[in-house]
Amino acid sequence: MKNSYSRAVKRINSIDTKHYLNISHKRYRDIRSKGEYTADATLIAEYYRRVGVLLQFVNIEGVSILMGMSRLIHKEPFLDYDNLLTICPNLKEINLTIFKVICFNYLEWCCLIDKGNAIAIKYHDIYEPIIKLFERGGGQISIHHHELVGGFGAFPRSISASRGDMKEFDISDNALDLEIKEIEHAEAFLKGYLFDRNVTSNCIRCRTRLLVEENQSIGGTWYNIKCETEKCFDDNFSSYYFE
Ligand SMILES: [Zn+2]
Repeated sequence: MKNSYSRAVKRINSIDTKHYLNISHKRYRDIRSKGEYTADATLIAEYYRRVGVLLQFVNIEGVSILMGMSRLIHKEPFLDYDNLLTICPNLKEINLTIFKVICFNYLEWCCLIDKGNAIAIKYHDIYEPIIKLFERGGGQISIHHHELVGGFGAFPRSISASRGDMKEFDISDNALDLEIKEIEHAEAFLKGYLFDRNVTSNCIRCRTRLLVEENQSIGGTWYNIKCETEKCFDDNFSSYYFE
């Protein structure tokens, strides 16, 4: 595992920055689709779960999203944050603080692995979900009050050890792409349904029928699209999406 650090540097410098340019004035839905945000939420949830598992192991109740995991184990930093853009020039164009801080923390974690730290080696892939999120273009994250802000829904800015009790999320490309396809499929069904209420569609995961339920709220009409199979597809769509 001696080369974790150099692999991580290479990985960060290979992130396609086009996802992150000129996004500050854009609305969430203009940056990514609802399906992509759903897959992003899975990656964030899995990152929180892995951090939770480590927190339980080192007996710490919770940490900020900005906290580097290596600092929980090894108090002295290996790298200087001021040098981050020299190490990873690819990050120069990305104007996202959390993104950069997490990349830095990931590099520090890899330094700890390369030093042969047993805990870092045991949890060597703790940063995998969040780096994968950045690689897939979902790194537009900021913090407002106590929450992470993005199109992926609400996550607290502090990660609790209890997250480690959750079941592991499948973050393989196949699983994430299936999540995106399911949303696109439901959106296409809803579009057809709004045009003709007799249109039917089946779940792409289990082939059972999808049901639509309409709900009125102050923000407009919401549609709950649900697979007849319990605990299968179930998501809410706003009519706003189809304007
Ligand atoms: Zn289903």
